Amino acid sequence: MNLLNLVVPLRCAGCGAPDFEACPSCVASFGPPVDVRVPGVGPPVYALADYHGAARELVLAFKERGRRALAAWFGAFVAVALPMLAPRPWTLVPAPSTPRAARLRGGSHMVRIAESVHGATVAPVLRLANGVRDSVGLDASARDANLRGRLSVRRAPPSGPVVLLDDVVTSGATARACVAALAASRVDVAAVLVLTAAVGLH
Ligand SMILES: [Zn+2]
Repeated sequence: MNLLNLVVPLRCAGCGAPDFEACPSCVASFGPPVDVRVPGVGPPVYALADYHGAARELVLAFKERGRRALAAWFGAFVAVALPMLAPRPWTLVPAPSTPRAARLRGGSHMVRIAESVHGATVAPVLRLANGVRDSVGLDASARDANLRGRLSVRRAPPSGPVVLLDDVVTSGATARACVAALAASRVDVAAVLVLTAAVGLH
């Protein structure tokens, strides 16, 4: 317990249950990776939860409400999933934040999660240019257009296939753009792993 918890009691970021960063019930909304069949990405896209209920609350609390300690939980979920997706050694490429979002959040939230994954190398090699609009309210083709030409690979990751890591897949635009940018730099993406899928798990 840190000193702040004496003043502001710790509550589960998913449901508000007292004395948990994330309570067992909310943690249990994340499971093994499920192929969510997002068209046009190339490599398979796997999700650990539906973007709904407690899983969505945990992601939003981490991303938008400063609950940074949740990175340890997400890192553990990813570490459990990786052996089911790709052979060792694992290189994680976090989907990039815009420079503005990273500034507001005190760093890239996906890099923070990737760095919490035991046994994986983190290669934050993708860069997202400024000028990308928030994708909320855009349809799939507008999301693709929004990202076109704005993603670049700033240096080569370690050799061998990588796993692209993101928080939520909706239209698949980010995954498509990231995989395409990596492919253009001759980086093979073995799989895309997202914490949550807003496209529905099948
Ligand atoms: Zn909870």
